[in-house]
Amino acid sequence: MLLGSHVGMSSPEYLLGSCKEALSYQANTFMFYTGAPQNTIRTNVNQLKIKEAQQFLKEHDMHIENVIVHAPYLINLANCEDDEKYQLSLRLLTTEIERTLTIGCKYLVLHPGSALKADRNLAIHHVIEGLNQVTTKYPNITILIETMAGKGSEIGISFEEIKQMISGIKNQNSIGVCLDTCHIHDAGYDIQNIDVLLEQFDNIIGLDKLKVCHLNDSKNLCGDKKDRHANIGYGQIGFDALCAFIHHPLLQDKIFILETPWISYSLENSKVSYPPYRFEIEMLRKQQFDPNLMNHVWNYYQTK
Ligand code: FE
Ligand code: FE
Ligand code: ZN
Repeated sequence: MLLGSHVGMSSPEYLLGSCKEALSYQANTFMFYTGAPQNTIRTNVNQLKIKEAQQFLKEHDMHIENVIVHAPYLINLANCEDDEKYQLSLRLLTTEIERTLTIGCKYLVLHPGSALKADRNLAIHHVIEGLNQVTTKYPNITILIETMAGKGSEIGISFEEIKQMISGIKNQNSIGVCLDTCHIHDAGYDIQNIDVLLEQFDNIIGLDKLKVCHLNDSKNLCGDKKDRHANIGYGQIGFDALCAFIHHPLLQDKIFILETPWISYSLENSKVSYPPYRFEIEMLRKQQFDPNLMNHVWNYYQTK
């Protein structure tokens, strides 16, 4: 099973540091942003220690093609109101594709965007148009459209909308889906009924299009359209449903990425937080819920 988490990428070790972080969680894959997701400042790829990272992955039996890049949030190909912003989104996406391919990755996860005040159908057509432009220019990238929770005017909040976008793409090898369990739960899909859910996905989109799953619990109720991630087993989806999801026979060729929140601890006059991933990965592999996750994470990072 390919299971990992979101990891950071920062100076001085950059991608090599990301690989080491993933290994410290006992993950065999990971996802990262090639720069801050909220801005356009990007360190030159030559400085990211790509060769060293690729060597490190090989030595630890991990494969760069299984490593996922997430595109910055600023990109909104669904923007039909402001052409300047749409063009900026296309330029940002182009840069991100080039960076992803230079690093040696194949999958780039993209939020389809927000329709703002425009008609959703029109917004979806703008996304299709943009994606056709970039995938024609870069046939080796596979853009994975992420399923969204439905906050504000987000598009891609139903399997039908995702299908509509995918159907418009000329080069079908360049397009796929990233299913986020928190997002689909918040959008109103029932993850407790996994067989029904996967059948629905398969009928509408096709399970062959699903490449990556973001595995997150949710702080909110099914259908709340909120998008607030919770730790595995500590939210409204629950451990059993998420564990059944990741171990489902139809999903064994997918890549699973945790994007659960770091756990915060209040000290006397400050706060610290630590990543939960090592322990969430362990409980998902063992198929056993850990009711003391907070303590285990705390104890582990005290001795580091
Ligand atoms: Fe995302
Ligand atoms: Fe996600
Ligand atoms: Zn989210």
